[in-house]
Amino acid sequence: MTDTNALRIIPAEEAFAVPEQMAEMRKVVENWSGGYDPDIFLWEKMLSGSPLTRRLLDLDGERIQIMDEAGIAMQLLSLTSTGVQMFDPDTAVAVAEVANDRLAELIGRFPTRFAGLATVAPQDPARAVKELERSINTLGLNGLVINSHTNGEYLSDRKYWPILEAAAELGAPLYIHPRSPTPLMAPAYREDHLEHAIWGYQAETGLHGLRLITSGVFDAFPKLKVILGHMGEGIPYWFYRIDWMHDMTKSLDMVRAELQMKPSDYFRRNFAITTSGVNWDPPLKYNLDVLGADNVMFAVDYPYQETHESVNWLRALDLPADVKAKLAGGNAERIFKIKAPAAA
Ligand code: MN
Repeated sequence: MTDTNALRIIPAEEAFAVPEQMAEMRKVVENWSGGYDPDIFLWEKMLSGSPLTRRLLDLDGERIQIMDEAGIAMQLLSLTSTGVQMFDPDTAVAVAEVANDRLAELIGRFPTRFAGLATVAPQDPARAVKELERSINTLGLNGLVINSHTNGEYLSDRKYWPILEAAAELGAPLYIHPRSPTPLMAPAYREDHLEHAIWGYQAETGLHGLRLITSGVFDAFPKLKVILGHMGEGIPYWFYRIDWMHDMTKSLDMVRAELQMKPSDYFRRNFAITTSGVNWDPPLKYNLDVLGADNVMFAVDYPYQETHESVNWLRALDLPADVKAKLAGGNAERIFKIKAPAAA
């Protein structure tokens, strides 16, 4: 059956796990001696038999069945947050390699159903660059994912710039996926458990995105492409105020990096966003308006949110056909260099 109006749907923030990541996280959780850490809290739940764990580890069973039922052409996969970022550097490098090999093997078996982002260990920037090069040039992966802070540090810190430089040179889009705010910030969120996806992820990841802009990363690497989920982690709503305050507060002796453009100009030039689990028309329409139809991609956030709800929302959207096609999968194909299917 060929439907020429069929949407080619490629959700762009879809999670998987490998047993090696789970095993190492189990050690991290069991040996944890620090205070309350929001990510440890969630991993404890995950490792104690959550149905999410089954769905994360399943690569070619229920996953493909749900994709088929919902009419999803391909998933763009990333190793689930917090990736390898809570491991010691040697373990992180080793698990990243295994995860990338496993991902490439899956894509090799199902080249029309999966694409994926490389995992690297920011704890060791030099080895992260090597693994990124291998992932893009040898394994043929489509970009890289980093789950916000690493040990409380952000990619705006110059020690991480080699990773950003390599991503820009390789044309590898960098997906900054959420994790919880650092343990240092966590107490302010904790009383009503606001530290996770309800608010903390967005505050943490929005801060990370803004720090990349204000630190001058995009003057140094103008070709770097950064992807944020969840309708842009709040940043697009703040364009006016960010630009205005960035300029005005210079008069208060607030020292910042000199930028060549306004903060919002970098976001429009260097960022794209996904809907990941925000199945709601008003922010979608706002973001299409301020970022343009080329810079917004559909995502489900499988298995954390429900595929059918997301896809039903996408299909029902009242948008011009060309805009809808870009949103559904066209932009993901272009930005992540996903091969178009052979003509039937
Ligand atoms: Mn996600």
